[in-house]
Amino acid sequence: MPKVKELIRVRLAPSPTGRLHIGTARIALVNWLFARQHNGTFVLRIEDTDKERSKKEYEEDLFLGLRWLGLEWDEGPALATNDKKRSAVESTCGPYRQSERTEIYEKYLNRLLDEGKAYYCYCTKEDLEAEKQAMLAQGLPPKYGGHCRNINQQPAGKEPQVIRFKTPEGKIEFKDLIRGNMAFDGSLFGDIVIAKDLKTSLYNFAATVDDEEMHISHVIRGEDHLSNTPKQILIQKALGFKEPEYGHLPLILNPDRSKMSKRFADTALSEYISRGYLPEAIVNFLALLGWHPKDEREIFSLKDLVKEFDFKRIQKAGAVFNQDKLDWLQKEYMKNLSTEEITDQLMEILKNKNVSTDKDFLKKIIEIERPRLTTLNEFYSVAGFFFRLPEYDAKLLVWRETENIEKIKNILNLSTAIIKSSKNIDRATLAASFAELINKEGRGSVLWPLRVALSGQAASPDPLEIIEALGKEESERRIKMAITKLEGNLL
Ligand code: GLU
Repeated sequence: MPKVKELIRVRLAPSPTGRLHIGTARIALVNWLFARQHNGTFVLRIEDTDKERSKKEYEEDLFLGLRWLGLEWDEGPALATNDKKRSAVESTCGPYRQSERTEIYEKYLNRLLDEGKAYYCYCTKEDLEAEKQAMLAQGLPPKYGGHCRNINQQPAGKEPQVIRFKTPEGKIEFKDLIRGNMAFDGSLFGDIVIAKDLKTSLYNFAATVDDEEMHISHVIRGEDHLSNTPKQILIQKALGFKEPEYGHLPLILNPDRSKMSKRFADTALSEYISRGYLPEAIVNFLALLGWHPKDEREIFSLKDLVKEFDFKRIQKAGAVFNQDKLDWLQKEYMKNLSTEEITDQLMEILKNKNVSTDKDFLKKIIEIERPRLTTLNEFYSVAGFFFRLPEYDAKLLVWRETENIEKIKNILNLSTAIIKSSKNIDRATLAASFAELINKEGRGSVLWPLRVALSGQAASPDPLEIIEALGKEESERRIKMAITKLEGNLL
């Protein structure tokens, strides 16, 4: 790694303990943009020190998600081509993994221990719990009382439990890029646990060492890490590290302003991918969460954002997740897709549903349904009936209770006759041909059973439009099936 501290170097440091969260994707975007805007480097560091909760599958989900968004990382250890351990979705470099850097942390832990800035703690969980209860009983905020701080030798019959950092007393101050001047009181922390043992460093310590070793110039992360920053600054000071700049992004909130949760919206990026959202829409949406451009513009590509995204305009307050806004953006980006692109993607989706169709027919249906679609994945549930008539109950053919079966059958028979005798079955011609029947029987009485017969559903595009798309033969076949259903006395 080049020793060039003056360069802009940022990092995304996720823990692979769950699928890539939409909030982490946003932090990735902001870091990536910051790097691109300053000719800097975007580092990906997997914080997998929690061996039990870290999973390979979550790493894969992270790589796929970042690539899908177009947020490729710039640096990491080179990969040996025959390294089977590596995932197929990783490219030529890295990411860094904390699980592969134990020796580095061990070196710094030893330094703190040697210099008397950290110590082994022998207190058991039970000891700590008793201490906590005693403090609470006195109405004090619980913190470690420093029992082992000045013990130089291992007490007989006791095992070291953890390594603690000797937190110095005093104020810790820093200027946050988003929140301004911040101040914390170090005496409230107590001596923090920085490692379970020499081989098992914990988050605050490993992250601080890595930020130094990786020459991170700006730590841009979620506001949930704000309380970790003073602890990391103290560790930096003890080790003589350079202090990076900090920027804590506001959290994403539910509409009721609680922290974003599954109760209101999907939290995993992969859900949005499988629901058929376009990466451009998600990127645009994530950028607008808590950031407002100077003007009224709302549509920004990744390329636009490199030019226009202004870190200084990120708001301090939490950003509410607005599903309608996302869907609006998605529809905007859907407009940019050519019919050819949509047709290709839908051919694939239909193939997966075992529906075979010819391209020209599909194109016709796309034209009809396009204005109603938010994502292409919705296509089959909205327009599947064009390809395969779904099962439906004969009762659905009855518009109102006052309609009688004979009347409905009659209308369907007359409709077949109209279609048969119509030279052209474009919508306009059909509208003229059906006008007389509709005038006589009423719109609902004619169009309702016709719609159900043709689509098997209560809601669909205009039935005459369906006839135009399906053609004479298929329309007649479907109407005949409806008549058979009614005759089958199923009501
Ligand atoms: N590993 C931490 C997390 O996943 C992030 C740490 C950081 O950005 O400093 O929340």
